[in-house]
Amino acid sequence: MEQERFSFQAEAKQLLDLMIHSVYSNRDIFLRELISNASDALDKRRLELLAHPEYADSEGGAGLSAPSIRIARGEEGRTLFVSDNGVGMNREELTNYIGTIARSGTGEFLAAMKAARESAGAESLIGRFGVGFYSAFMVADRVDVVTRRLGEGKGWRFSSPGDGTYTLEETERNEPGTTVILHLKTPDKEKGERDYTDEWTLRDIVRKYSDFISYPIVMAVAKG
Ligand code: ADP
Ligand code: MG
Repeated sequence: MEQERFSFQAEAKQLLDLMIHSVYSNRDIFLRELISNASDALDKRRLELLAHPEYADSEGGAGLSAPSIRIARGEEGRTLFVSDNGVGMNREELTNYIGTIARSGTGEFLAAMKAARESAGAESLIGRFGVGFYSAFMVADRVDVVTRRLGEGKGWRFSSPGDGTYTLEETERNEPGTTVILHLKTPDKEKGERDYTDEWTLRDIVRKYSDFISYPIVMAVAKG
């Protein structure tokens, strides 16, 4: 299917560059951010199904599966999947929410970040503002998002190597929701970087940062 290439909005690229060349040492928080987005998407699904119960029917006889967040490792290589069966995104939402920074406070964040280049400042700023989806680029050299909007039939794949560009193409997805696929960087053990393909590392991070999430978080990360 046809693939189209786009550039991130300038402000989004700045935030992305900050994440990639981050002075921020706590890379673990990428998982907290992705789980928090998954949880938000499941909240939105719940609300939307109240207004549009027919969306569940349109998924065929089986309907929608129970809300959950799933963390899985790829069969090969260093891939990590964070999936939800939440509200998902259509093409427009993908470009608006991921390729652009519409969030209020981001401009403020960028300005504060530039003013506080040293790591102590960055740590507290990131803690205060929350860094969101782009934190995935701290740990991955390519991030794909496969998503389908609840109530819509077409799925979309977003893919970015974190260089300020991304591609979009139509794709199939069985159930509404979103899967973020992280092509993980090789951890630098000398810098004390943790391996995010390791099940116990992931469990530790989930316990530490995502304990309060009200949806089941299923781990399917076999040792090997
Ligand atoms: P925030 O969560 O603060 O809005 P993020 O950078 O974490 O900022 O995410 C940006 C937006 O992308 C979200 O507001 C949401 O609209 C969309 N998004 C991200 N992850 C998902 C997901 N798993 N399902 C649906 N939408 C998502
Ligand atoms: Mg978020």
